[in-house]
Parts: sequence; C-alpha cells; structure tokens
Amino acid sequence: MCGIVGYIGHREAYPIIIKGLQRLEYRGYDSAGIAIYDGNSIKLSKTKGKVSDLKEKIENEISTDGTLGIGHTRWATHGEPNDVNSHPHYSNSGNLVIIHNGIIENYDSLKKELIARGYTFKSDTDTEVLVNLIEEVQKSNNLKLGKAVQIALNEVVGAYAIAVFDKNKPNEIVVAKLGSPLAIGVGEDEFFIASDASPFIEFTKNAIYLEDEQMAIIRRGKDIKIRKIKSDDLVAPYIQELQLNLEQIEKGGYEHFMLKEIYEQPRAILDTFRGRLLSNEAIIKMAGIEDNMKRFLAADRIIIVACGTSWHAGLVAEYIFEDLARIPVEVEYASEFRYRNPVISEKDVVIAISQSGETADTLAAIKLARSKGAFVFGVCNVVGSSIARETDAGAYTHAGPEIGVASTKAFTTQITVLTLIALRLARAKGTISSSEFRQHLIELETIPNKVEEALQSDEAIKVIADIYKDSKNCLYLGRGFNFPVALEGALKLKEISYIHAEGYPAAEMKHGPIALIDEQMPVVVIATKTEHYEKVVSNIQEIKSRKGKIIGIVTKGDVSVRELADHVIEVPDTLESLSPLLTTIPLQLLSYHIAVMLGKNVDQPRNLAKSVTVE
Ligand code: GLU
Repeated sequence: MCGIVGYIGHREAYPIIIKGLQRLEYRGYDSAGIAIYDGNSIKLSKTKGKVSDLKEKIENEISTDGTLGIGHTRWATHGEPNDVNSHPHYSNSGNLVIIHNGIIENYDSLKKELIARGYTFKSDTDTEVLVNLIEEVQKSNNLKLGKAVQIALNEVVGAYAIAVFDKNKPNEIVVAKLGSPLAIGVGEDEFFIASDASPFIEFTKNAIYLEDEQMAIIRRGKDIKIRKIKSDDLVAPYIQELQLNLEQIEKGGYEHFMLKEIYEQPRAILDTFRGRLLSNEAIIKMAGIEDNMKRFLAADRIIIVACGTSWHAGLVAEYIFEDLARIPVEVEYASEFRYRNPVISEKDVVIAISQSGETADTLAAIKLARSKGAFVFGVCNVVGSSIARETDAGAYTHAGPEIGVASTKAFTTQITVLTLIALRLARAKGTISSSEFRQHLIELETIPNKVEEALQSDEAIKVIADIYKDSKNCLYLGRGFNFPVALEGALKLKEISYIHAEGYPAAEMKHGPIALIDEQMPVVVIATKTEHYEKVVSNIQEIKSRKGKIIGIVTKGDVSVRELADHVIEVPDTLESLSPLLTTIPLQLLSYHIAVMLGKNVDQPRNLAKSVTVE
C-alpha cells in the first residue's frame, strides 16, 4: 500500500504534489519521490525516509518548475526501502516515468523476458518491470502511450493503481487501476490524481473514482477519456461531488483508523496469500521457506518468539503447526526468552513475529537465538525493518500500514502467513494428505469473503457493546485454536477501553475464574462448531448456573448456544484450524464499539505506543 499523487494543468505541480504526499503518508512512509516535467526536462528526486526528507532534499537539490508532475510515498513490497527502489521509476530509454501502488505478481517472469530483450534494471521493484514492459510494448508496436499501457496491463497479474507519463507527450498522463484505489479530481482545465481525494479536496470537490480494470487518458485542457483495460470500450466519466472533509477522507470515511483497519481485513488477508497460495496448482510458494526447506525439515522443534498481539498469533500457530505439520512448537514471550538462558541449538528453528519489525525484545531474542546457532525466520509487516534484516529468512504479511495502536489486521495476516508456512511444511513432511492439503487451500481462499460476512454483524455488536460498556470486568473463554483468540479479545478490550478483561481456556475456568462470575460479569465465549463444541456448551451451562451474562461467538446456524446465551454473534463455518481468522472479527468490533461509547482515544490509547522499541 502506498500513496500516489499527480497533477496536470496550469498551476505549479510541485506544491500540490508535496502537500498531497504528506496527506497520504498514512498509507506508507518508508520512502518518497517526485517527478516534475516542464516540457523540456524531467526533474526527478527520491529518497528513503518520509515526505519531509524528500521535501528537504528537493528544495536543496532541484528546481521544481513545471505544471505536470507525479509523486509517491512508498510502503515497500518488492525491494527494501532505499533511494533506488523509491518511486517514480524511469523506463530504460528515460522517456517513461511511472508511480505505482500495488503488487505485480508475475514480475519475475516478465523481468526475465525483458532482460532477454536487453533491458537492464536499477531497482528490485516490480514497478520498474512494469514501466519497461510498457516501453517494450510501445516501441515494438510503435504505439501511443495509452494503448501501450493497456496492452502491457493485460499481461500483468496483480494489483495496481498507476500513473505514467511520456517525455514525448508533455500534455498527457495515463492512469489505470485494478485492486488499488485511484481518484481523479476534475477542476477547470486541470486534473488531479490521487489514492484518495485528500490531496485535491481544497481545489475541487468533483471527483471520478476509477473502477477496477479501468484506465484513463488525461490530457491538459481537454476532456478525460476512460476506457476498459480488457476491451476497448469507452466508459462515460461519472463525476461525483465530494461531501467529505479532509480527515474523513484520510480515514477512508471511517471514524477511526482502527475501524478502517478492521474493515480492511478481507483485502489484507487476500494480499497476504496473493501470489503464494496457488490453489489451482495445489501449491504454496514462499521463497523464504523453499530456500530453507532443509533447515525446517531437520528442526527438532520450532520456537516462536513475540510480544503482545503477535504472541497471540504465535499461540494460534502453535496449534496449527502441531496439528498439521506435527512439529513440536514452543511459544515464548520474547522478553522472557531473552533473559532466561534458554536451551537452544543449531537444530532449532526460531520464528520471530512482529508487526513493525522493530520490537526491541523480539530483536534481542533473535540475536540471542542466532548466537546459539538457531535458524531464525522473521514474520513482520514492515518491509526492510530491523527484524527483516536481522533474521536468516522471512515472510512479510503484506497487511499494509497499520496506524491504530491496537493491532487488528496485523494479527489476522500473521495467522494467515503462519498457516501458509504450516501447510507448506505439512505437505513437505507428508503429515497431511494431498486432498487435505487441497481442501485447506480452497478453504483459505474463501476466508476474505467469510471475514466480509463476519463484519456484517457490526450493528448487532454495537447493540451488545451498549449493554456492557459500563462493566468493570469481562471474561473471554475459548478452547483449542480459539483459546489464543480469547486472549486476544481480552487484550483488545483492555488496551482501548481500559476495562479489565481476562482470556482463559474455557475448561480452566473452573480452576479459579469461575469464582468471579455473577450477574454483573459478561463472559464472551467462543463456541464455534469444533471438536470441543459440546464441552464448550457445558462450560456455558456452568456460567449460566452462576448467572453470568453470556455473549456467544457461534457458527452460523447454531442452535444449542443460542438457547443458553444472552446474545450470540454468528460467524461463517470454516475448518477448525482457520476459525481464528473469523472468530477474531467480532471481538475486535466489540472492543472498538465499547471504547468509542466510553469516549476513549481508540487510535492512540493512553500509555501505549504502536511499536515498542524499548525493552
Ligand atoms: N510494489 C511496489 C514497490 O514495492 C509498490 C508498493 C506500494 O504499493 O507502495 O515498490
């Protein structure tokens, strides 16, 4: 995920673009760049770091005159965040310049073909492959830019919002979209391009939101031509009048980043397995695993180190790895692991999980494990982060930037990556049959839609939140794969609403917490259809006998829990090992609504920070 901005018209482009990039920085901020064209020469500047670093660099370095320009704030997916990998990217001839938000999944094979035709590459990005592909199509068929973009995009697999211009066409920018957002602001003889409307809201309220598989040829002082990428059909531009203010736009119309990120989970999970899960071919492709398969297969055990929500993802992974791949797993708090003189050997594989990739305790645990000869694999979200650099290999979650301090999409995408790894290893070890493997892949592919369905309980959850928002305590219970989800649900409530909450394995309740239950105590019980369903129903009976208030998270169509519970929230049916990806959703929404109703600062809860870079 990244932010793109463009301008073509009669004003100076630079101030519009730099300010626009600052507004889009919430979408990614590991590097930034800009290209301005005055009709004679292209001035391009880019740098690792924030938009403020770019601004400083540009204002010392280049003149910024020109009424056509494009800019990018990056959230790296292919190639570490450094100056060279930053956008915009030139084509080999230096005539085409591109910015891109998204992932070109088949970049590797396209790159090989282009290299065979003599193209060279400066960066490690998928984007530089795309701009050269456009150039190759344009040159070999002597085409206009728009047509070349269209043909090239038909060869591409993946997601994109792009803006590209040609040095030979100083009055034209071509844009296209599939899977990533792209808005076009329509002014008087001028056009604005951006990932959302925030960069141009003060100039025009008229916007066109391109739809997937549409492209537009934007000409200075002329009309805009929108056409379909797959056919030549023209599309009549639908110009809408924006009603939103700036802040609402940055949050995509959501009241808080946390809610936006909760709702982004279907897309985020899809991005996590995009290009890795190939269900038609019945394979999982993950370079970090393939390249180190021997190490994984020789491991006596896997030790997972993490903190906070990532630790909960690790606990879910423990159940998944042991169940599918039959490898013993230990899950450790990184802060405890690093100080307790753990027994580690060269035969151990350590998986370190961290959203930011900067968590101080997890980094220290990684260093300790490596010093004892263990093979360390990182799972993090932020590309090029310290953990990505300090580990032997790894896999990114590709969740996109997470701004809300309470982790939501990072958690579900971590579980998704860990599930992919477990399945890949299970297949390699032969601990699951090919039909079971295939069944898991097919089911995993349905999860984004099922998360979407789970999100539809939002209004019903709001009603429940209103009833329990003044509770002083709350208990969360789950079993098996869903025990860690109970821990995560309790953590979410604690961190944003400041209500004391505890997660417990449902059966353990009678060894202590049951003493707390009275008519004041809400108990959230994850009671989806699993192997232990009947047992959980008995646990619910025990709570009911003590007059506790029961909020059941159940499988769609459930009857038994519905009869006993005060409230039920349904989630779609799925394989037991994948159920945490669905049961987590209502718990995130419940804590979110309670915190909002209590007037808490949901995105920046007191005393917390997004990434804990101190021990
Ligand atoms: N895949 C591109 C890159 O890594 C674009 C990433 C983005 O959307 O920020 O450079």
